Formats: sequence, structure tokens, C-alpha cells
Amino acid sequence: MQRKIGLIYEGKAKKIHAHEDLDKVIIEFKDDATAFNAKKKAKFDGKGELNCQISSKIFEFLVENDIPTHYLGLKNKNSMIAQKIKIIPIEVVLRNIAYGSLCKQTTIKPGTVLNPPLIDIYLKNDSLDDPLLTKERINLLKIINKKDLETISDMTLKINKLLKTFFYNIKLNLVDFKLEFGYNSEERIVLGDEISPDNCRLWDLNQKNGIIVSLDKDRFRNDLGGFIDAYTEINNRIDIFINSKQNKC
Ligand code: UDP
Repeated sequence: MQRKIGLIYEGKAKKIHAHEDLDKVIIEFKDDATAFNAKKKAKFDGKGELNCQISSKIFEFLVENDIPTHYLGLKNKNSMIAQKIKIIPIEVVLRNIAYGSLCKQTTIKPGTVLNPPLIDIYLKNDSLDDPLLTKERINLLKIINKKDLETISDMTLKINKLLKTFFYNIKLNLVDFKLEFGYNSEERIVLGDEISPDNCRLWDLNQKNGIIVSLDKDRFRNDLGGFIDAYTEINNRIDIFINSKQNKC
């Protein structure tokens, strides 16, 4: 198969393209949605653009709050420019509320509030279905040293505090999320990947009677319908909140 010029890597939801500056890349968000390690797949018009827009606004918010990220700016509606980073092959999941795989693999009841939050680290390896790691296994595999792992855990807790407030302001409950980190050209650890309803569980706080309304990828995973509507709703709420803050200044 002929390789598209400039295409460095194509993943499940994004394509990474070369940038004229070798320290940068262009991240294009695709319209593809996948779940259960791509065993379930579909395409939704506009999904790439929504995730790119949502992610860029969240990265801007995190940068304003001194979190080092790979994000440099938007290139167009569905692409962003980012620092080229060497991805650390772990997926860092932070859970504020028990749900999803945690409840399938343990006896903890869905909806249990986790205080302090739980950080679960998985090996980023699709062919092994991203297995859960232990600190000892991380050492054994020499994936990352102790100090850098501690830096990532501290950054994840700080990001959680910021994101919880960010989403609370737009009436969303941040249940859990997945982060990826990498080393930039200065060997500094920075937040990479994306932050969108694809990798966060977000429950609508406007609901009464304790009904869970997911405005995230669970709508696709669990065939709940209204997938693009949910992502659009999040993007709109973020815009309204940002505009109201700007008007106050
Ligand atoms: N997640 C992700 N990519 C993965 C696995 C999980 O972005 O490969 C996110 C997921 O969207 C959720 C959080 O990480 O917000 C926790 O997911 P969980 O481990 O409960 O797995 P799931 O139930 O999604 O299989």
C-alpha cells in the first residue's frame, strides 16, 4: 500500500501528519468512532471536528493553568498543531466515580464515589487489549522510571482538579478519563493525545432523580443514540461558558 505523503501514523480516531517544523506534528481528528478495542466501529459526520474543537478548548484551559501539554494551536476545524512527542506507552485512567471496567472486574458498585480518586495504569498495547499494570510490572517492563511515573501521577491529579471544575461549570460530572503523556524534544513530560468525550465519562448534572445521562462515548458503546447530539451539546456548553467569562472581563 502506498503511504500518503506526510502521514506519519494513523490511529483509530486520529491521523498524525508531518509538519514543516520537525519538532511539530499536525493531528487530524477523524470521524471514526471505535469501542471495545475497535471491535465496534462506525463513522459519524462531524465527530472529528467536534472532538478537535472540544480538545483544543480544554488544552487551552489547561495551558492557562500551567499544565504542560503538546498543544500548540488549531490548524483548521478538525486539525491541531502539537509538539512532536515520544509517547510513553501507558494509558493513565483517573476515576472519580466507579463505572465501566472497574465495576466489571471488581465487586465495587457502579456509581460509588472514589475519594481520593483512583488512578489505574494500563499498557498501551492494542494486541494485548491494554492490560492493567502494577507498579512492579511497570518496573519489570522498564516502561518508565519511578520519578517520571510520580510526575505523571501528580500531573494527573492536578489535571483532575482542573477538569472537575471546568466540567462542573458546564453542568457535567467528570466520572473518569484517560490521559496519555510523552516526552517532548526537551525531554520534558507533557500531556498528549486528546481530551474529549471519547476519553472522558461525563454525566449530565441537569438530570434529576439520579438518572444517569451520559454525554460521552458510552452513547456509542451502549447504543444509546444521540451520539453527535451529545458531543455537540458539550461543545456548545463550553462555548457559552467561555463567552460568558469573556463578557465579564
Ligand atoms: N478509556 C479510553 N481509552 C481506552 C480505555 C478507556 O479513553 O482504551 C477511557 C474511557 O472512555 C473512560 C475511562 O477511560 O472515560 C475509563 O474506562 P474504563 O477502564 O472503565 O473502560 P471501558 O469501560 O470504557 O471499557
